Amino acid sequence: MASVDLRGLTKRFGSLAVVDNVSLKIDHGQLVCLLGPSGCGKTTTLRLIAGFLEPSDGEIHVGERLVSSRARTLPPEQRNMSMIFQSYALWPHMTVTENIVYGLRLRKLDRDTIAKKLAAILATTKLEVLAQRYPGELSGGQQQRVALARALIVEPETLLLDEPLSNLDANLREEMRFEIRRLHDEYRYTTVYVTHDQSEAMTTADLIAVMNGGRVDQIGTPEDIYARPESEFVARFIGASN
Ligand code: ADP
Repeated sequence: MASVDLRGLTKRFGSLAVVDNVSLKIDHGQLVCLLGPSGCGKTTTLRLIAGFLEPSDGEIHVGERLVSSRARTLPPEQRNMSMIFQSYALWPHMTVTENIVYGLRLRKLDRDTIAKKLAAILATTKLEVLAQRYPGELSGGQQQRVALARALIVEPETLLLDEPLSNLDANLREEMRFEIRRLHDEYRYTTVYVTHDQSEAMTTADLIAVMNGGRVDQIGTPEDIYARPESEFVARFIGASN
């Protein structure tokens, strides 16, 4: 059974269908990239999955639950998902630790459980020595690790990433790309990863959905997309370098 299942998903702003009849099945534990040029509807699709936007048409199922349709929108906090934004959205007045445990405090977990989960996630994201720092004292890559730790400590079923490497310089990008894949493989959640960068998608994804003007042009493994593009758009987009 698909873990995230988009069925004819459509979002219109005014008369413009920014997401246009998108259907996509993502199996549990897969890392899927939504790949395409700027403005093709990737972030809007991600925000629909997260529950920050309501669809104009179509449905989103997560596991056995219908979470979005025109008639029903489950709020984001009931979807068992974490989303990491391009800007990371860390709270500047909170330390690394306070940022990471905030979600657990909201869930009213006891102190011992929080301490155990915190120790584990600090170790796995290599943040132990930075635990008492503030976000403003960290590099871009370190802030990204904090955003990952904060997203993962609540043990989401689904992780949503919006251009997670766009604020990093070139040599950090490769390191964080590897890190995102490593954490995904370690925890085995489902990841939906938005990017406009072909090489990022090619090296990270199990499956790539290439988007063009609000529609999915092709879905396939990186090898499929590269070797057997099904449209001229896909061939040109994959062939172009940034
Ligand atoms: P991508 O992530 O692929 O760059 P987006 O999903 O952010 O694309 O945006 C797709 C299109 O939808 C763009 O043309 C954008 O201007 C438009 N759009 C996004 N959000 C809104 C909104 N709230 N109101 C009107 N238009 C929007």
